[in-house]
Amino acid sequence: MAKEKKAKANQRSVLTEASYKFLKHYINTASPVGFESSGQKVWLEYIKPLTDTTYMDPYGTAVAVINPKADFKVVIEAHADEISWFVNYINEQGLIYLKRNGGVDHQIAPAKRVWIHGKKGPVKAVFGWPAIHTRMSNAENKEPLPKVETLFLDCGARNKKEVEDLGIHIGSVVTYEEGYDELAYDYLIGRAFDNRIGGFMIAEVARLLKENKKKLPFGLYIVNAVQEEIGLRGAEMIARRIKPDIAIITDVTHELLKGMLPVVKVLLPVTDQLFTINYWHLWKRLQKKIIFPCRCAPLVAVQEQIQIVLLMPMTAARVY
Ligand SMILES: [Zn+2]
Repeated sequence: MAKEKKAKANQRSVLTEASYKFLKHYINTASPVGFESSGQKVWLEYIKPLTDTTYMDPYGTAVAVINPKADFKVVIEAHADEISWFVNYINEQGLIYLKRNGGVDHQIAPAKRVWIHGKKGPVKAVFGWPAIHTRMSNAENKEPLPKVETLFLDCGARNKKEVEDLGIHIGSVVTYEEGYDELAYDYLIGRAFDNRIGGFMIAEVARLLKENKKKLPFGLYIVNAVQEEIGLRGAEMIARRIKPDIAIITDVTHELLKGMLPVVKVLLPVTDQLFTINYWHLWKRLQKKIIFPCRCAPLVAVQEQIQIVLLMPMTAARVY
């Protein structure tokens, strides 16, 4: 953790300085949907010495394997991609209009700083938005809400040519600037914790197995899949290649304490514990018949903050 004095949670962590260094670097490396290679490189560099073999499939999904010759295959998975924007239109005044790449939220965009990933490297820009005292001064006295069509980026260029001279083109990917940071009591924040934190968790499994000299009686496939945010595409492809017997999928879920989201309770039969989850993610997974089509039927189980989808007989699951 950082050297600054912060209020600490009263718990012993299994994480090391090197773990946090990796997490910080991984979070701070942009890995937008369809352009995940930079993040995958960071992830593979960390996990390579901890596993027997690594590879990348043609879609960009990274896989690290322990016991690659074993018949029984267990997958632990996260997704490597993050939601982002695409440059869609550059006007003559040098303002840049966007389209979504994944489910990026237009309501939180105004005033955010971003990186536009152009041909000449990343360029800083900011989402422009009218000042508060100007927003209500229209005939209906209605405050305009941000929409994809009205949001624009200003990168400092005074015209379209100056934008293009920076290497920005139609189709350039845009990611938010915010990086890794630490709050009190060991809470962390950062762009794209969905699902860089899952990628971090599964890499830490490899580290702990290695450091504790654990021998596994099965093949462990640690999978960092691409293109989850636009329809679970990377996971679907790699599942057909690996054909796992069991898959444990990690992803984030929503903060529920504020009572702003509808919830359901799910029973985890293995431990007979009830968990509260937002049903959007549960429903989404069930509709998609779970990420990994395995030889077993699906069961959905959820921890307090990190969602885990286990693939086990469906008859054992009850949804409340
Ligand atoms: Zn996710």
